[in-house]
Amino acid sequence: MGAPAMHERANIRRMAGYVPGERPAAPAVKLNTNENPLAPGDAVMRALSEITPAMLQRYPDPLATRLRSAIADYHECGVDRVIVTNGSDELLRLAVTTFGAPGHAIGLVEPGYSLYGVLAQIQDCPVARVALEDDWTIPTDIAARWNKAGAKLAFLANPQAPTGALLSARAIARLAAEFRGVLLVDEAYIDFVDPTQAHDIVSLIDQTANLLIVRTLSKGHSLAGLRLGYGLGRESLVTPMLTKVRDSYNVDVIAQHLGCAAFADMGHARTSWQLVREERDRVARELGDLGIVTLPSQANFLLADIPSAFGDAQTLHALLASQGVHVRWFDVPRLRGRLRISIGTRAENDQLLSAIEASLVVRT
Ligand code: PMP
Repeated sequence: MGAPAMHERANIRRMAGYVPGERPAAPAVKLNTNENPLAPGDAVMRALSEITPAMLQRYPDPLATRLRSAIADYHECGVDRVIVTNGSDELLRLAVTTFGAPGHAIGLVEPGYSLYGVLAQIQDCPVARVALEDDWTIPTDIAARWNKAGAKLAFLANPQAPTGALLSARAIARLAAEFRGVLLVDEAYIDFVDPTQAHDIVSLIDQTANLLIVRTLSKGHSLAGLRLGYGLGRESLVTPMLTKVRDSYNVDVIAQHLGCAAFADMGHARTSWQLVREERDRVARELGDLGIVTLPSQANFLLADIPSAFGDAQTLHALLASQGVHVRWFDVPRLRGRLRISIGTRAENDQLLSAIEASLVVRT
């Protein structure tokens, strides 16, 4: 560290950078970064055992054709509409580099995934932040406000982070039609949506030239440690990122091979999605019984409003951490009184609920 700041670009000097959730020492109940409660299944672990020295000796397929074809088959779209990346975070960065013109705004929703704003700062783009309404819904005139700010690119997480709310396919189609820039819909948590509410916006790509869908294997496929994400969009959006902006070998041999295995056998992933849905409902109900209200969530986390009986949310966060139960507290105006709790295994969720209940007993 200690490098002279004078060489940094002014926007880099000004910015604070993204701070990921802590990585507690094991054993811990880790409910702070929205990973999958289950480890990857047998098919993926078998694929890992198939990695040979020769595979590691050579560079990976720069176009990741086998993996992109597997993803194209899963989504029933052309392979030219698929790009794979080193986690979906890399795709967010590529989108900013490719579509975010320095000096021109990037549209955001506030509160939201804080990396979006950090990426905008790196690119020296001002941000057009649109605050969620008091009831946490997205303002109906959001596209008009982004347009007014001249935004070339806008980020929208669906389900929304950190609320877990889901926008309908119709609402997204309307937004894409109204917004004049590239609309990046970040579906990091889409796999956990209840089947009764599920929708598929991939077919919208045919009618919508400015829609870029972002997905990840970190959440729904239990592969956060592997770093594999992908994007789906018209060739006019995907090709420049794929052929000009991305590093040639952005997805390594292991990620390409394991990614193919993950798409070849979805059974384990689907089991984890169902577990998350059931536990999400149970945890929300049991928190409710303790007097803690959560927002309706379609993701693998709950945003919990911490009442004063538990002290303030930041103190409860620290108390839980001291007992090995890690959840997320955000130092952001709208979120300071809340905790974001990832859904874990049944046993982990039980530990969380007991620790919260015990904190109430300690106080009363
Ligand atoms: N989008 C959202 C909304 C997220 O919460 C996250 C995880 N922090 C990501 C994208 C990035 O996921 P990954 O890079 O692991 O694919």
